[in-house]
Amino acid sequence: MSTRQPLLEVEDLTTTFSTDNGELTAVDGVDFSVDEGETVCIVGESGSGKTVATESVTRIVKEPPGRVRGSVRFKSRDLLEMSEPELREIRGYEIAHIFQNPQEAMNHCYTVGWQIVEALQIHRDVSDEEARAKAIDLMDKVGIANASSRFDDYPHEFSGGQKQRVMIAMALVGDPDLLIADEPTTALDVTVQAQILRLLDDLQEEFDMGILFVTHDLGVVAEIADRIVVMYAGKVMERGDVLDIFERPAHPYTQQLLNCLPEIGGKKGGIPGTLPDPLDPPDGCRFAPRCEHAVDACVTGDQPEEIEVNPGQRASCVHYRPGRDDSVVRDGIPDSTADGEEVSSADD
Ligand code: SF4
Repeated sequence: MSTRQPLLEVEDLTTTFSTDNGELTAVDGVDFSVDEGETVCIVGESGSGKTVATESVTRIVKEPPGRVRGSVRFKSRDLLEMSEPELREIRGYEIAHIFQNPQEAMNHCYTVGWQIVEALQIHRDVSDEEARAKAIDLMDKVGIANASSRFDDYPHEFSGGQKQRVMIAMALVGDPDLLIADEPTTALDVTVQAQILRLLDDLQEEFDMGILFVTHDLGVVAEIADRIVVMYAGKVMERGDVLDIFERPAHPYTQQLLNCLPEIGGKKGGIPGTLPDPLDPPDGCRFAPRCEHAVDACVTGDQPEEIEVNPGQRASCVHYRPGRDDSVVRDGIPDSTADGEEVSSADD
């Protein structure tokens, strides 16, 4: 049995944005958690709300127009109850972020070493000499060869993969307990991507960090995740251990995502159809307009509650409700007898 302690516990997280066309709900009542030393991946297509959900954790979502509600307990303190100065003590220190595009995150007018030193001195009262030595040590740890001689180089003198390594070094300056990584390998080629994932894995072990990893790429998830949370249109569709989800995905959306994996000769072009308008989401299951297993019960009421389909694995789908025949989705075969008529225009 796991002895890991909960590090981050998110409950009923809801993030809305005021727009000229009304209130847009990007994240709608989402729960997830990360334990110490664990990697949890939030997966889903673009627009599923996964980035907003993680940015809501440390409230880097711009408020207004954004508004974040719910509960975000980090080491038993609710981040949503904290003042901005209290949060600043946690961001970049106990919780660090890395983003998709290191190019945009770096200042191109300053040397790489100076930027790491600056990040260090925001959080620690250290002399310039100590900060320089620590920065070189971190550059070395993240695999920048000849770190001391690269300290005074500018970002344009680093490749994309090296820049992401520098961003990881900056994230480590406060010895974070939690690293939030938003698509950190998406802009990199496959070889460099694999190196960065290995690096994160090694650093996680060394620093004993929890990692909350956002990606649309299930191939990356397979490399790095302990647990997965599958999001679609602001809601959680399925969650569970990585092996369970890959071996027996329960939710039709997860099944479709996996069917698109190129590694298993998946469909090109992704899942047919598009995500619903977040200003006007459909009743019932958000995935219903694209789901080949949709029945009448899917298009009324709220998103189906999550039901345990295997130990530790839960899916939000009407076919798992007690008394129903879940083989309709487990076997991947639509069944018009499951709950009345099949919804005839599921793809409309
Ligand atoms: S069968 Fe219904 S509830 Fe299940 S995923 Fe499809 S639309 Fe959603």
